[in-house]
Amino acid sequence: MQCPHCGVDLKFKERGGRRCSVCRREFAFEPRGHSLRLTDKRFRLVTEKLSANGALRYTPAQLQHALSRKIIAEQKPTNIGCLIIFSIVFGLAAGVVIGSVFQPLIGVIAFMLVAGGGLFWSARQHRRPFYHSLPMQLNTFYRDVIDRWQQVYGSPPTGLIDRQMLQHLCYDTPAPDRLRAVLACPERSVLDCLCANGLPERLGLGLIPAAPPSHKRRASHFDQGGATDRCVRAGGALAAV
Ligand SMILES: [Zn+2]
Repeated sequence: MQCPHCGVDLKFKERGGRRCSVCRREFAFEPRGHSLRLTDKRFRLVTEKLSANGALRYTPAQLQHALSRKIIAEQKPTNIGCLIIFSIVFGLAAGVVIGSVFQPLIGVIAFMLVAGGGLFWSARQHRRPFYHSLPMQLNTFYRDVIDRWQQVYGSPPTGLIDRQMLQHLCYDTPAPDRLRAVLACPERSVLDCLCANGLPERLGLGLIPAAPPSHKRRASHFDQGGATDRCVRAGGALAAV
């Protein structure tokens, strides 16, 4: 890992306590063992990219997803072959131990039960749909990443909408004569981002927290109000920004 302060390449033993052995300065993240494999350099690059070098604002959840993307892409379902081999080996071990303590016949029965149960469980696991998951919860991300960065560098990440700003974001709809479109979105983080970047004022855009698409009742309510059409137009306006 390269020291974010002096640029010297450091081996693991040369950066104990998250401190460079050359310039003696502390850095925020040790990539080895970190669930996001973060380095200070990568963190800074991602925040600069998200904020377009400080011109735009983004939410903690958006930063969390941007930093997790590489880890999530590497997630794969458990290999069914490994599960089968593990079941058989574990069943054999159980059969040998139980057979040596009691009788060989009981050992064979134990093997069949344990290995059979393992194979049944493996088949069930294999049939289940696989979902990617975030490697870190948002609360942990706040504590171990955002707060840690601020602790070492003395200021929050460039462009981040911090907790206080999130609490004071105003969702007031523009006055009727300025309202050009309404955007209904189920992702609160997206609405926070649009609001913090001043889209409602700049585009005459109303922002509405919406239920996910599977929520038929709420979706039909918006459809009846003609909001879908306005959302499409809002999307076009946002694309033009
Ligand atoms: Zn250094």
